[in-house]
Amino acid sequence: MNLLYEDKKQRLKEFLRVHRGAGIRLGKSTSNLFRDRNKIAAQRLDVRDFNTVLRVDVPGAFVEVEGMTPYFKLVDECLKQHVMPAVVPQLKSITIGGAAAGCGIESSSFRYGLVHETVQEMEILLGNGDTRLCTPDNEHCDLFHGFPNSYGTLGYALKLKVKVVPVKKYVKLTRIRHTDPTAYFAELSRQCGRRDVDFVDGVVFGRDNMVITLGQFSDKAPYVSDYTDKNIYYKSLRMRSEDYLTIEDYIWRWDTDWFWCSKNLFAQNPLIRRLYGKSRLNSITYTKIMRWNSRWRLMHYLNKLSGIHSESVIQDVEIPIERAPEFLAFYHEVIRFMPVWICPTRAYDGNAKFDLYRMDPLKLYVNFGFWDVIRGRKKLPPGYYNRQVEETTTALGGMKSLYSDSYFTRDQFWALYNKPAYERLKKKYDPDSVFKDLYRKCVLKE
Ligand SMILES: Cc1cc2nc3c(=O)[nH]c(=O)nc-3n(C[C@H](O)[C@H](O)[C@H](O)COP(=O)(O)OP(=O)(O)OC[C@H]3O[C@@H](n4cnc5c(N)ncnc54)[C@H](O)[C@@H]3O)c2cc1C
Repeated sequence: MNLLYEDKKQRLKEFLRVHRGAGIRLGKSTSNLFRDRNKIAAQRLDVRDFNTVLRVDVPGAFVEVEGMTPYFKLVDECLKQHVMPAVVPQLKSITIGGAAAGCGIESSSFRYGLVHETVQEMEILLGNGDTRLCTPDNEHCDLFHGFPNSYGTLGYALKLKVKVVPVKKYVKLTRIRHTDPTAYFAELSRQCGRRDVDFVDGVVFGRDNMVITLGQFSDKAPYVSDYTDKNIYYKSLRMRSEDYLTIEDYIWRWDTDWFWCSKNLFAQNPLIRRLYGKSRLNSITYTKIMRWNSRWRLMHYLNKLSGIHSESVIQDVEIPIERAPEFLAFYHEVIRFMPVWICPTRAYDGNAKFDLYRMDPLKLYVNFGFWDVIRGRKKLPPGYYNRQVEETTTALGGMKSLYSDSYFTRDQFWALYNKPAYERLKKKYDPDSVFKDLYRKCVLKE
């Protein structure tokens, strides 16, 4: 038992007992949430110090870690022991608890599933200050399986036990290019069946320009590339058919330029890039700038002055692979901005059912990640583009992450995210509604 952890937990318990009925919000210094919240009075539960890696157990193949530990710290500790968490979301400041509550994904998801599928045990703080130890098969297995996609509306994960896998020093990258979507997704599906591949993801650059990147652990590398400074990783995908990175650089390959979104903050202009400096080229810097912009609504006023209307379309959706060409066709017609991140994912344990994010365990899914702003002179109804993404995703049997804007009606939302299961969990674990309800939090932005 880690005494410090127990002491910190006690502090939170007391806080919740004192502030009972006040409305609670997580007090953290970073966030990767991309929906602005309406300002509502709430007490901040200060969890900033729940950021310790408690134990890396290599023979047991797990790590025990506090819930608000950012992945950059968790990965650092794990790599010292030559292991990594089985799935590491790409952005350094994403925390293990946030990724488990918000369905994190990465290029090892074709083998291990979403982040929550790599979690073996969680200690969850409830709104009344009690904690529950949840495993897939103990008396609180309902909370264990209902936690993914609950976004802090059932309780907060304070401590987790998570699967780790051995790593090698380098990752060899191999690229496969396609010009036809049907052939591209068929190839993706084939590659996901290989046992000798450790990572699979891809990028769509245009209607006839699609790339798959395969990653394989390697003890040796004839050379290593560096995309943490002058060179930009996503650009290399179009130029190199083969590449080598250190394992650490592979894990964070998307962080330096926030995939490609750093271009909106001018960080891909060589001169401005130099002004940022290597140490500030990362998602933590970019989210700070975006939050500042969102607070002062700078772009909003600039757009207004120039008569431009805009809508943020920042979404990750999972589509069954057999419907992926249809989703891409819709995307090319309606949303259009490029590139699009492609990441395959499949259930790790076909018998595990995660009630609030139901995916067919027998199917391979494709995550489409697209993050930009659509601008135009015509004033369109709010959520014009995002609603079409939601409708198409649902029609194709897919699921949409809830970390950014959502426009579902209550009925659409609850048909997708399993109202009966959520109500059962809410009644049992948060009967006094200390935390918001999922629809109010994720769609109404309360
Ligand atoms: C541009 C962009 C790209 C993204 N790409 C990816 C991606 O490729 N892969 C991926 O996995 N994710 C991606 N995300 C989404 C990200 O994983 C989720 O937003 C995740 O929930 C953020 O975790 P966080 O730790 O930063 O949590 P926060 O942003 O602080 O919180 C997110 C939500 O989770 C809840 N929460 C946080 N910690 C806990 C906890 N310990 N217990 C219970 N609830 C908690 C909060 O209440 C909040 O509702 C992306 C986001 C953006 C903006």
